Amino acid sequence: MTQETGGFAALDLHPSIVAAVIATGYEEPSAIQQQSIPLILAGHDLIGQAQTGTGKTAAFALPVLHKIDVSKREPQALILAPTRELALQVATAFETYAKQMPGVNVVAVYGGAPMGPQIKALRQGAQIIVATPGRLCDHLRRDEKVLATVNHLVLDEADEMLKLGFMDDLEVIFNAMPESRQTVLFSATLPPSIRAIAERHLKEPKHVKIQSKTQTVAAIEQAYMLVHADQKVAAVLRLLEVEEFDALIAFVRTKQATLDLASALEAKGYKAAALNGDIAQNQRERVIDSLKDGRLDIVVATDVAARGLDVPRITHVFNVDMPYDPESYVHRIGRTGRAGREGRALLLVTPRERRMLQVIERVTGQKVSEVRMPAPQAVLDARIKKLTNSLKPLVADAETTHGELFDRLSADIGCNPRALAAALLRKATNGQALDLASVEREQPLVPNGAPRERGERSERSFTGDRPERRAPMPLGEGRARCRTALGARDGIAAKNLLGAILNEGGLARDAIGRIQIRETFSLVELPEDGLDRLLAKLKDTRVAGKQLKLRRYRED
Ligand code: ADP
Ligand code: MG
Repeated sequence: MTQETGGFAALDLHPSIVAAVIATGYEEPSAIQQQSIPLILAGHDLIGQAQTGTGKTAAFALPVLHKIDVSKREPQALILAPTRELALQVATAFETYAKQMPGVNVVAVYGGAPMGPQIKALRQGAQIIVATPGRLCDHLRRDEKVLATVNHLVLDEADEMLKLGFMDDLEVIFNAMPESRQTVLFSATLPPSIRAIAERHLKEPKHVKIQSKTQTVAAIEQAYMLVHADQKVAAVLRLLEVEEFDALIAFVRTKQATLDLASALEAKGYKAAALNGDIAQNQRERVIDSLKDGRLDIVVATDVAARGLDVPRITHVFNVDMPYDPESYVHRIGRTGRAGREGRALLLVTPRERRMLQVIERVTGQKVSEVRMPAPQAVLDARIKKLTNSLKPLVADAETTHGELFDRLSADIGCNPRALAAALLRKATNGQALDLASVEREQPLVPNGAPRERGERSERSFTGDRPERRAPMPLGEGRARCRTALGARDGIAAKNLLGAILNEGGLARDAIGRIQIRETFSLVELPEDGLDRLLAKLKDTRVAGKQLKLRRYRED
């Protein structure tokens, strides 16, 4: 490391922290790290603001670690984060940076997991607590002294933390800590109203704001597409065909919409899952881990559930529903373009939401360009490209393994090789449309937001408050309600569903209760007794050419 750049070594951090950071692969501190670390080390309160993906975690984690007295086995630092996933992510970051500092213990304290192990970790002398406010308050109710020795407090995603929903818990937490503590806040966005609240809790805070021409990361290419609300699912599916993505996160407004879109995607064969505040903790962790390691490619999330997530392989953000405010937009698209990578963000805009688009452009200082719905030809080209790519690696040795079989089949059938190859292709592609006329038929032209009849209800979430969200009828006794992501949109009628379940499930007609077909999904009442076995039996059932994927329906 040269004298001029200084790098991490020039920051007066403990050498074992610097060593761990360098082992992680960081070469230089980012701007927010460069400017915040000395101020935090010097003991100042601080408000730090920098774009998403610029390393704010290390900006507070490194100096906080430096201040930990390893010889004392008591809580010394508290980091508050708005979600359990983020708390875990931050705790993991601390562990990484503390790898070469034996004796440092970090505990993540969040709801949805048993209290016992968390209490144990606290008792055994964890010095760093990374917590969500709700669960931390539970701990405080058991032991009001838990935070009595904590002298460093960090609020990550500070604007989210200081919103009304957390305020009561925060008051309790603040009051349980020593007056003399150091408090630092970090966020990518900080609206003036929240900043005012923040200042009330800090003592002569220093401000670090990493100015950039735009609030969003330049490496994120932003585009929008005009659609009508009821075309959003179709639009997403078509975009996915042509976009070359690694991992993708799609944002919708409601919890139900995360489930609906995720199952629509699953039905199309994508490795997709929903992420929202109602999903059980261990399942949410599994979703994030799976997205990280490639077992999942698409996560459909609500804003809060995905705040601050750092999954480097996310190449695309789809804003399926409009964010509530420009700040949310900035955070959403900041899930891609992490640490200098490139990313692409797409926003679906209904005709009435055009004004919000202008607000977003003004606040982010960046123009969002319009894209059109991919044409059938583009969809076809993408499909053929995928098919080509999937066959290419097989050509090398398939002749050795299957050549003789091919000869035998064409002799047995008595056809020419091209006819047989074509038959195999048809079978392998499973009814997928692979010529222009079929693609056109399958994908009726979406009119790209052309004005429609007046009074269109376009503000709604694409499933949010449609008529089909009416509360379902009360359930018959001994029955369970099940759900499939196939609906009227997929050409499903009650008789198809009934037929499939009767045939494949081997049920008697009167065992099946009410069937409700909606636009994007359907509900069926089935006998509770033996339901799991029945669902397993129906695992591979297809209706109207599509996988049924019947699941137990969670009422909420
Ligand atoms: P933010 O909180 O600002 O959105 P994170 O703290 O989650 O960003 O960091 C984003 C990514 O950048 C993480 O994967 C992190 O490991 C990486 N990172 C952080 N600091 C550096 C650095 N100095 N050099 C290279 N990568 C870094
Ligand atoms: Mg962060």
